[in-house]
Amino acid sequence: MNNASEYIVNFARGTRSLLVGMRATLRVFFRAKTTERYPENRATLTMFDRFRGELVMLHDEQNYHRCTACGICEMNCPNGTLRVTSEWVVDEAGKKKKSLVEYQYDLGSCLFCQLCVRTCAQQALGFLPTFEHAVFTRGKLIHKLNREGSSLAPKPVAESHTV
Ligand code: SF4
Ligand code: SF4
Repeated sequence: MNNASEYIVNFARGTRSLLVGMRATLRVFFRAKTTERYPENRATLTMFDRFRGELVMLHDEQNYHRCTACGICEMNCPNGTLRVTSEWVVDEAGKKKKSLVEYQYDLGSCLFCQLCVRTCAQQALGFLPTFEHAVFTRGKLIHKLNREGSSLAPKPVAESHTV
């Protein structure tokens, strides 16, 4: 066999081998989709209840939160994801107490371990089941969790009992 014939035979063999290898890929490529429904079902897709998508600070209708700025969650976070900034204020009774200025959460470094939620004695935190968090820069994953104008919820007034 001369060089030209040998080249053609090898080329044919190589092409056949490639097509055999690609057979499964091509078959799946042209088949109607059966298992992948996202993102077409985006409008109706809901995650299961315990899915941890994003940490949030809970606020009520009056824009009150329950965070006392104690910093326990920040100390317990294994990944340095939280930053609690507080200031000292004097309340109506003349007592000095901490007040939350900013609660910062870096979604990009969160492990979703939920230690912060579990260790918060005030139950001030929770997780949302959101899952679409793609952004172009990491800085956009840093969120301020205390809402604008929110403040610490007043303590419930103890009921007075007359004997
Ligand atoms: S979220 Fe809870 S644990 Fe964290 S600083 Fe606020 S009160 Fe403390
Ligand atoms: S879920 Fe875990 S890693 Fe994420 S902020 Fe809370 S303690 Fe930190």
